[in-house]
Amino acid sequence: MKKNITAHGLSFEPFISEAEINTRVEALSSQIRQQYEGKQPLFIVVLNGAFVFAADLIRACDIACEVTFVRLASYEGTASTGKVATVLGLDFDVKNRHLIVVEDIVDSGRTLYHFMGELKKKEPASISLVALLLKPDALQFSVKIDYLGFEIPNKFVVGYGLDYNGLCRNLPSIYQLKDR
Ligand code: 5GP
Ligand code: MG
Repeated sequence: MKKNITAHGLSFEPFISEAEINTRVEALSSQIRQQYEGKQPLFIVVLNGAFVFAADLIRACDIACEVTFVRLASYEGTASTGKVATVLGLDFDVKNRHLIVVEDIVDSGRTLYHFMGELKKKEPASISLVALLLKPDALQFSVKIDYLGFEIPNKFVVGYGLDYNGLCRNLPSIYQLKDR
């Protein structure tokens, strides 16, 4: 694995290697294959961060499926109940479909809490959530993750799709912000 990297003047150190990621992605995809074989699920990939994870996961699943993409509005400040997530680009009729939402990282859980709620109103046959990373100590909203890659400490990470102000998405492994 590479040494430390810098982006926009911040230092990051190696955290989860390509090999570790691959092993987890294989395990998650075989679980998903067992659950969804013959159901022709629709993967809903949350852009931008999940694009690398989703590409690996969905190819490894090796089942008949469809794939679409959404971008979610991020919420400013504290939670206000009744607020609706802005869903950009969900151009599929999801009624009676088996949905698998693919997210890179669940932090406070705010984004997905709202999005999953919106999806449920559209009467899908089922919904599950797969997330590569979870920061349990940051979680403020109740989000049920059906397939999880790794629980990580509450520190900023980049790589494997995750960015720092636009940089680092193309790193093949995951790096963690160094303590200063
Ligand atoms: P939440 O709504 O769960 O608080 O925020 C989730 C989103 O925040 C993620 O989809 C991701 O875009 C961003 N995010 C949260 N933690 C990190 C992190 O450690 N690194 C990066 N690059 N993005 C993060
Ligand atoms: Mg994300």
